[in-house]
Amino acid sequence: MIIAFIGLGNMGGGMAVNLVKAGHRVRAFDLAPEALARAAQNGCATFTNVREAVQGVDAVVSMLPNGAIVDSVYAGDVIGHAPVSALLLDCSTIDVATAKQVCGAAAAGGYAMVDAPVSGGIAAANAGTLTFMVGGEDPDFARAEPILKAMGKAVIHAGGAGAGQAAKVCNNMLLGIHMLGTCEAFAMAGRLGLDPQKFYDIASVSSGQNWSMTSYCPLPGVGPKSPADNDYAAGFAAALMLKDLKLAMDAAQTAGSKVPMGARAAELYADFVAQGQGGMDFSAIITTL
Ligand code: NAD
Repeated sequence: MIIAFIGLGNMGGGMAVNLVKAGHRVRAFDLAPEALARAAQNGCATFTNVREAVQGVDAVVSMLPNGAIVDSVYAGDVIGHAPVSALLLDCSTIDVATAKQVCGAAAAGGYAMVDAPVSGGIAAANAGTLTFMVGGEDPDFARAEPILKAMGKAVIHAGGAGAGQAAKVCNNMLLGIHMLGTCEAFAMAGRLGLDPQKFYDIASVSSGQNWSMTSYCPLPGVGPKSPADNDYAAGFAAALMLKDLKLAMDAAQTAGSKVPMGARAAELYADFVAQGQGGMDFSAIITTL
């Protein structure tokens, strides 16, 4: 297929390369010249604006920073400029309301569109092992699946337009909460005189077990290798966790959902980022406890 790829940053750069490796012809665009140069080195054709990049394509994939940018790129340069037969796939993490609105605008222009945010960080984007959660109609999901499979290990249909973003914010709100709970438990165990390894050995096979503990342990030297073992250099930066928690709080407000734990997690990550720690891995919040 001929695929336009818009947004070649930390995530999109690796994802575009995986489309090339799968045999697609990728027409790439990013505002940053260095990102474009990297894409060119990796086998993408590069263009100086979105409208040129989407000429004659079978699909458009975007991986952009936020909802306002996604809206402006699609409304200004994709809808009405890409062939109407092209499938549109936005993989950015954005708010549910904007995702639905952009999908609606695409549909009004005659396009099929899915929201397809990802779980997994930069390493998974490079390795092609992301998990995609997809919102859209059944036939559009069927068209999106083989494209996304070239960049991921799992592609799951979450429901209609916006359902991918809904799944993403609920998942990441839960992640923020159980990371904080895990950090609190390790910090208190230490104060109570427990050896952290002993506490891990017990809790990891008891009812406190969770992903933040057994796959991403926030203490160095305990559990599998994690950012804690690398001075908390970001796998998943605290600033990105805060972004996702803010999106979750927006979604909760729109849905009229009570989220006291999510709200507290959002406050704690906001404090952590305000202390200048936004570039650290999100598990580094244990250092504040
Ligand atoms: P990034 O800032 O590294 O990349 C974004 C890219 O978009 C940049 O290269 C930027 O120049 C480009 N861009 C901005 N405005 C543009 C425009 N109008 N037209 C074309 N290009 C434009 O961010 P990232 O880490 O790659 O994240 C991208 C998305 O993926 C975000 O929505 C983020 O929340 C989500 N995400 C990131 C991670 C992660 O670990 N980094 C994990 C899951 C999801």
